[in-house]
Amino acid sequence: MNNITSPNSIHPCTSCQLCAAVCPKGAITIRTNEEGFYRPVLDESLCIDCGLCTKVCYKYKPITPTPPSDYPNIEVWAAACKDEQVLKETTSGGVADVFARELIKQGYYCCGVTYDSDANRAVNQIAVNEAETLAFRGSKYIQSYTFSAFKKLISEYAGKKIAVFGTPCHIFAIDQYLRFRKKREQAILIDFYCHGCPSLNLWKKYVKENLPDNGTLSNVRFRSKHRGWGRYCIEANTPKGKYISPTVNDSFYTLFFSDHVLNESCHTCELRSTLQYTDIRIGDFWGKLYDFNKKGVSIVTPVTEVGKSLFKDVKDRLITNRHRQTDVIPYQSWGKTYTPNAPLRKRLLTELADENIPLKNTIKHYRESLTGKQRLKLGIKNIILRLPSPIISLIKKIYH
Ligand SMILES: Cc1cc2nc3c(=O)[nH]c(=O)nc-3n(C[C@H](O)[C@H](O)[C@H](O)COP(=O)(O)OP(=O)(O)OC[C@H]3O[C@@H](n4cnc5c(N)ncnc54)[C@H](O)[C@@H]3O)c2cc1C
Ligand code: SF4
Ligand code: SF4
Ligand code: SF4
Repeated sequence: MNNITSPNSIHPCTSCQLCAAVCPKGAITIRTNEEGFYRPVLDESLCIDCGLCTKVCYKYKPITPTPPSDYPNIEVWAAACKDEQVLKETTSGGVADVFARELIKQGYYCCGVTYDSDANRAVNQIAVNEAETLAFRGSKYIQSYTFSAFKKLISEYAGKKIAVFGTPCHIFAIDQYLRFRKKREQAILIDFYCHGCPSLNLWKKYVKENLPDNGTLSNVRFRSKHRGWGRYCIEANTPKGKYISPTVNDSFYTLFFSDHVLNESCHTCELRSTLQYTDIRIGDFWGKLYDFNKKGVSIVTPVTEVGKSLFKDVKDRLITNRHRQTDVIPYQSWGKTYTPNAPLRKRLLTELADENIPLKNTIKHYRESLTGKQRLKLGIKNIILRLPSPIISLIKKIYH
């Protein structure tokens, strides 16, 4: 057995879906499992045991841990787009948008993630012109359906210049495939500092209960800057008007940040803690240095010569500052693992999958599991979040 069901896996499935995209026999289909994560399903009768699916798969690849000290000369930059409109519509400093538009000019086909309002899910698409990259703006904090776009990348776009934006697990799989085909130099790969992806059932239920008339939403933003960068605020246009998530206790972010409903691979993910597969890593410039910034600042870590060259090409469109790794890494998930309470995780995921259990009941069960100290911390956080923005920034600064 030389396929994705081989028993000798060493990591859990990341839901990257590349195994299905590369299978020459169409033996793998992508479904969502009961917990709400994309998973490959194999039709053994079609499989010819060629082993291509396992070659791109994280489940079978031992990763060498790379502490930040292994990158002593790596450049770390703070960057914010000079164009205020871009800054408004993007998650951090808008660098992903600037890169995508520049790459189109340089003749690349750009693969990024859009929001499909009909199905209320995130979907990868390939942009062939600047206008099509606009839908990539803004992080969608759910797993993306990558299969169709990845399949196109390796068939229709084979041999062409491609740029792929994605989580480190997407980028790892694409990197492995391109290296195997000896085509890595045709691509530029851009990934993120990554916290993880929650169950799709959480988002499905959140939309159903908070955003009536689903299917007709537009302009869905998982991280609107309505209350300023750094405030986790969901915004969407609905036929009944604008939806803006509550200042505190938003159910999507409560469960997301509980780390109890993330994909299992996110608990011990080693890909977010290495720069081995990417050309550039980007993210939010969390930490004490930009506490008072309300518009958004990105981290840019150009890794390879191709990445450095792209950053140089767009620098005139950005306000930039050079930093040290120690200014960013401690505030990211790099090197961290999550250890959720297994029975609680199971209960929460089972409830999220049950359409008859309202989200507020699941939140209640999660809250009941908190210790007295955790509840006190949450209570204090909620008091702070209700204060005016400059005071919140000041408190953050003092805390940092
Ligand atoms: C699931 C997830 C977890 C993240 N965790 C962290 C973190 O812990 N720390 C941190 O600093 N940054 C994290 N990021 C990155 C951060 O949210 C911003 O995307 C990044 O700062 C770039 O923002 P921007 O302003 O440059 O551009 P934006 O326009 O906001 O960039 C969005 C980019 O993300 C891509 N994208 C959107 N949704 C998805 C998705 N579901 N899967 C893959 N790609 C997607 C788009 O194609 C586009 O290229 C995460 C992103 C995602 C999608
Ligand atoms: S990690 Fe990716 S390639 Fe491996 S089984 Fe999961 S979806 Fe397929
Ligand atoms: S071993 Fe080859 S044929 Fe079988 S599922 Fe994997 S890629 Fe497809
Ligand atoms: S934490 Fe790792 S496995 Fe989870 S979405 Fe990010 S890169 Fe993928």
